[in-house]
Amino acid sequence: MIDSNHDIQIIKTENSRIAQVDFSQLSFGEIFSDHMYQVEYRDHEWQQPEIHPFGDITISPSTSILHYGQAVFEGLKAFRYKDGKINIFRARDHFNRFNRSCKRVSIPEISEELFIDGLYALVDLDRDWVPKEKYKSLYIRPFVFATDKFLGVRASRTYKFMILTGPVGNYYKNGLKPVSLTTMPDFVRAVKGGVGNAKVPGNYAASIYPAELAKEQGYTQILWLDACEKKFIEEVGTMNIFFMIDDVLITPALSGSILEGITRKTVLEVAIGMGYTTEERAISIDEVISASKKGTLQEAFGTGTAAVISPVGFIHHEEKEIVINNREIGPVVKKIYNHITGLHHGDVADTNNWCHVF
Ligand SMILES: *Cc1c(COP(=O)(O)O)cnc(C)c1O
Repeated sequence: MIDSNHDIQIIKTENSRIAQVDFSQLSFGEIFSDHMYQVEYRDHEWQQPEIHPFGDITISPSTSILHYGQAVFEGLKAFRYKDGKINIFRARDHFNRFNRSCKRVSIPEISEELFIDGLYALVDLDRDWVPKEKYKSLYIRPFVFATDKFLGVRASRTYKFMILTGPVGNYYKNGLKPVSLTTMPDFVRAVKGGVGNAKVPGNYAASIYPAELAKEQGYTQILWLDACEKKFIEEVGTMNIFFMIDDVLITPALSGSILEGITRKTVLEVAIGMGYTTEERAISIDEVISASKKGTLQEAFGTGTAAVISPVGFIHHEEKEIVINNREIGPVVKKIYNHITGLHHGDVADTNNWCHVF
């Protein structure tokens, strides 16, 4: 069956897998919707966009991505409103960041039409896959990778851009639970001038081993410090981080080695709208420890699309240990979380034009 929609060539599946999915038991990243979107780049341009049934792809063992890692990805979500409509959250911001990441690793930029219209068409086609329950969502994974069959080190001349989607549950099965962190001064996530501010797979590869060590020591995530002085806080795991100190909401400024999170931006904008004072600036681990001693460290939390917000209850750094808000969820984090999830599901009015609802 072939029909066309916005010039996208669509081949629909004749065997939907949706009846086999238990939407009450969703985890993260295991189940994929019926279709996937793809566009190839060759002869200096992006080609005809296509939607196919989700399935394996074959590549040569000499494919460039397998050897030198030239690739970029994004992660965003679609949510269900009570009236059945679907909301794709801040897609344009994810598209813009995707192209900024591509530029850093010499991948040709993709047009808004190919990225956004393709994404909307794919989600619309598989709209039944968007979970109906609040806090559940359809995770959307756009990505691009180098496809030249060539072992020389240079920018590939061919690429494949794809979008996968799949239903995911609430990241925290038992609600928001504060996590415990440790710094890892022997390892760094990223360095200014490197690729820390681009969403590229290599950043994740580099963080897995230290994250395993942190887990073995009993911590949930790593609190990453800057690579040069091992003094300033950068991110937590694969999330951005916020501290509420003396009634000021502080997040590290985008220094070049920090990923410019869309949730980070949302939290800043929502907090300002609620009347909180916010600061984007360098914040050292020593400042956090001394605020804790003084009793002015009120809350801490990580932000990212997958979990939305993740409260921090405990930080270990060298010989010091600090407990934040009695390891409980604080009022600020709760208020911001409720506001953002309200925006997701249409319970809070979208005054910023962040939502694409259809
Ligand atoms: C994706 C990502 C984030 C969070 O970004 P969001 O746009 O909020 O999802 C933070 N840090 C790193 C390293 C990331 O890769």
